Amino acid sequence: MQIKKFREMVNLLKRQNRFYATRLKNLPTVKTLEDLTRYPVTLKKELQEDQAKHPPYGTNLTYPLNYYIHYHQTSGTTGKPLKVLDTRESWDWWGKCWKDVYEAAGVSDNDRIFLAFSFGPFIGFWGAYRGAELLGALSIPGGGQTTEQRLNMIMETEATVLVCTPTYALRLGEVAEELGIDLSSSPIKKTIHAGEPGGSIPAIRKRIEDIWGAECYDHAGLSEVGAHSFSCEVRQGLHINELEFIAEVIDPETGEMVEEGEKGELYLTNLGRWGFPVIRYRTGDLVKHSGYDCPCGRRHLFLAEGIIGRVDDMVTIRGVNVFPSAIESIIREITSAEFRITAYTRDEMDELLIEIEEDGDTIQKLGHEIRNRLGIRADIRKVEKGSLPRFELKAKRFVDERVKK
Ligand SMILES: [Zn+2]
Repeated sequence: MQIKKFREMVNLLKRQNRFYATRLKNLPTVKTLEDLTRYPVTLKKELQEDQAKHPPYGTNLTYPLNYYIHYHQTSGTTGKPLKVLDTRESWDWWGKCWKDVYEAAGVSDNDRIFLAFSFGPFIGFWGAYRGAELLGALSIPGGGQTTEQRLNMIMETEATVLVCTPTYALRLGEVAEELGIDLSSSPIKKTIHAGEPGGSIPAIRKRIEDIWGAECYDHAGLSEVGAHSFSCEVRQGLHINELEFIAEVIDPETGEMVEEGEKGELYLTNLGRWGFPVIRYRTGDLVKHSGYDCPCGRRHLFLAEGIIGRVDDMVTIRGVNVFPSAIESIIREITSAEFRITAYTRDEMDELLIEIEEDGDTIQKLGHEIRNRLGIRADIRKVEKGSLPRFELKAKRFVDERVKK
C-alpha cells in the first residue's frame, strides 16, 4: 500500500510540482521499499533555499496557490522559518493522523480535550484541534491565557484529556502546587504530548503521571512532514504511522539502513500531503529502530524511547558520546526543577555546564548519578529559582555554543 501511494504521488509530482519534478526525473519506478533508497533525500536547507529563491512560498507546491487553506511555519530554531501550506485534502490528512494519535491513546468522542497552547503559526496543536474535531470529541481551546487561568479552566470544564508539551505539563504542575491545587484529583485522565521529546523519556513520563494522576502519551510530528508517530497503550515509545508515512532509520555515518536495535536518523516520506510533499526527508531526529513486534499487536515500526534527540546534539566528553536527553532523563528522576545544559568547547574539547534551580544536596546527587551512569563529569551550578527561562512550546534547555566542524 505504501508503494502504491508513493507511485501515485510521484506521478503527480512529476507533472505538477516544480520542486520535485526535476529531482524525480529519470528515476526508476519504485517496486519495493528498497528501491526507494535510490531516490535523493530532501534537506530542510533545500526547502529553505527554494523559498528564498522563489519567495514567498517556494516551488514545493503541487497545486495553484488558491487551492491552499492553511498557512503554518516552522519554529525557526534551525534557520529562517519554513512556510508550509496545506490544501483542504492535506489538512484533513493532518487531522486524520492526529485522530490516529487520539485513538491509539484510547481517547474517544466521549472525551473533552483541553489544548493548553497559544494558537499561533506553529502547526502542532492546530492539527490536534482538527483531529479532535474529526474524532467528535469536545475541543477546549486554552490559548491566550495565563497558566493559572488555564488550570482553572481545566477544572471548570471538567476536561478529561490534556494536550500540551511535556514541559508545559510540568509547568502547570509547578503553578498548581503554588496555588494549592491537587492535580492528581483533577478530571484529566490522559495527557498527550507533542512539540518536543519527553513523553517517551521514562523519568519525565512518570513525573507527569504522578502530578496529574493520569496516563501520559507521546506523539511526534514535524510541520514540514506531518503528525507521524503515536504512543500505543504500552507507552514505552512511539509507533510510526506507517499507513501515512514511509520511515527509514539511517546510520548518519554510512548512510545505510540500521539493523533492528540500533540507533540512527529518521528519514520520512509523507504519503498523504500531496500539496506539500516531502520525499526521504532528513528529520535530524535520532531514534532507535525497535522492530515491529509490540505487545499492543500493531505491526508499525516501533521506536523505543521515542525521539531520543537531535543527531547533531551529541556531545563527546573525553571520548564518551552523550545526548542531552540522557542527562535530562537523569535530572527528571531526581527533580522537576528548571535547568539548562550548555555545551561549549575548551582547548578543543567538548565541555558541559548544567545550571539548575536546585540546592546543594540535589546537585551533589545529580553529579554522582551523571558520573556513574553516563561516565562523564559535568560542571553543575546552582542558580536562583525563577532565573532560567520557562517554556510553553519547544523548550530550549540545551544550548550549543560549540564551534561546528
Ligand atoms: Zn504498540
